[in-house]
Amino acid sequence: MDTNAFSTAPPTSNPSAIRPGDSRYDSLLRGSNHRFSGSPEEIHVITTAEQAVSVVGEAARSGATVAVRGGGHGFEDFTANQGVRVLLDMSEMDHVDYDPVRDAFAVEAGSTLGHLYRALFKGWGVTVPGGECPEVGVGGHLIGGGYGPLSRRYGAVVDFLYGVEVVVVDEDRNARLVVATREPDDPHHDLWWAHTGGGGGNFGVVTRFWLRSPEAGRTGPREILPPAPRMWRSRAEIWSWDSLDEETFRRVLSNFGSWFETHSSPGSPSTGITGFLHASPRHGHGVVVGAMADDDVPQVTELLDDLFDSVRAGVAPSPMRTESVRPWLEFSAYPGWGDPGGPDTRRIKIKAAYMRRGFSDEQISTAYRYLTTDEPHESQLILIGYGGEVNAVDPPRTATAQRDSVLKAAYMSVWGVAEDDDHNIRHLREFYREVYADTGGVPGLDGPTDGSYINYPDSDLADPAWNRSGLPWHDLYYKENYPRLQAVKKRYDPGDFFHHALSIRLPQEPGA
Ligand SMILES: Cc1cc2nc3c(=O)[nH]c(=O)nc-3n(C[C@H](O)[C@H](O)[C@H](O)COP(=O)(O)OP(=O)(O)OC[C@H]3O[C@@H](n4cnc5c(N)ncnc54)[C@H](O)[C@@H]3O)c2cc1C
Repeated sequence: MDTNAFSTAPPTSNPSAIRPGDSRYDSLLRGSNHRFSGSPEEIHVITTAEQAVSVVGEAARSGATVAVRGGGHGFEDFTANQGVRVLLDMSEMDHVDYDPVRDAFAVEAGSTLGHLYRALFKGWGVTVPGGECPEVGVGGHLIGGGYGPLSRRYGAVVDFLYGVEVVVVDEDRNARLVVATREPDDPHHDLWWAHTGGGGGNFGVVTRFWLRSPEAGRTGPREILPPAPRMWRSRAEIWSWDSLDEETFRRVLSNFGSWFETHSSPGSPSTGITGFLHASPRHGHGVVVGAMADDDVPQVTELLDDLFDSVRAGVAPSPMRTESVRPWLEFSAYPGWGDPGGPDTRRIKIKAAYMRRGFSDEQISTAYRYLTTDEPHESQLILIGYGGEVNAVDPPRTATAQRDSVLKAAYMSVWGVAEDDDHNIRHLREFYREVYADTGGVPGLDGPTDGSYINYPDSDLADPAWNRSGLPWHDLYYKENYPRLQAVKKRYDPGDFFHHALSIRLPQEPGA
């Protein structure tokens, strides 16, 4: 018997289900990726944990499939497919406060990252090393092992996850609320662990997270999370495609990869800065190398100079340069910042890889060919600085197994209308398959790559037509942590009530 469980209670507020025909229904139907839209019978805007228990319990008893949406920034159809009958929208449940009992920040699961950064900063001058897009929800982001511009310095955001409050469904289809913390003697320790990178929509509905530094001895709201930067420095150097031939492109990508290979050890001063490389399709801006940091990092401009000088080594054309120093909140919580496309161009496909090393010359040639082809496409390539403090954590300690990569790669296509789906998706798929041709068309394990990132989910990894590596999709995302995730699934969702195309399978299930 769980001491902190309670029986299903009636909702305390806003109990009404929003059904088709209700004027609110269409506005609440889809998330930010307009490729996907479900047709749930009911959408519930959740405002309390008790209401979530009630809605989930009701759905479980009737056998209806439930999905939970946080910020709606998931890339696949996990919350918006035709199987979903009841959709929980958490976005109005977004309170952030310091909890003196647990000496941790309590963050309701519908908060966006931007709201979290604002609340932590305005209240206490602290922050977490989460993602860069303020509209992303903490719901999916934290559970999937989120990272961002401060991760090289402080770690992945899940390294700060102290606890979760989750609505789970037992084998008798009763919903109950469980609190799980990272305390080693917590009877629900494994449920906490599964939420440190196991991915959203797998074990239940998280209603609240608690965040606190992993370091012992820190107490009080200003001590338990990293200090937020005062000012944020960003620099970018941009080469237009006209100025880049294949050899120059090779140099830039190769230099960028080499810098991260040699400047990403935990504790190295260079982890005070991070960087990215963004290569657009031929009709776009070209190649941007960007880097950024807390402006109070010691010798920040020298560190940035070192990165940019290294990237420019042997590159003849001069890039255009921009630099800015802005107050932290203007960078971290600026509304709309980071969302690809506009409201009319939000059809998105993503594929990804963890990279222990930069690209080989052959891979760079492939990237050049795919990005600059005259064939119509919207594929772009983004390499994002990783490693540093993230790599100070042992892989089994959290569900985020990849702990020795130095970059993440995102292959993304963003377009406007359904008629363009086929050629844009095909181009991205072929581009990715060819980059990883030596490892069965996917980023293999135990070599220059280390699988992929569940927060950039790609259902193609579960499709033998696109994954010929012989490695199942779950090994690419979770590696050796997968059996433990399955054990948590069995204990907390024995009826597989929460599932989607890439959800953790029960141990005996096909494809497990
Ligand atoms: C524009 C953009 C920028 C991004 N930038 C970054 C970045 O800088 N760093 C990074 O790490 N990632 C980034 N991501 C990826 C992002 O972390 C994931 O897409 C994340 O899963 C989104 O969470 P969400 O709550 O907004 O999405 P949703 O679509 O609401 O949810 C995603 C998944 O999580 C589940 N989920 C959501 N809330 C809950 C809950 N309360 N309980 C249980 N399951 C839940 C959903 O059911 C779904 O399976 C970005 C994504 C986008 C679209």
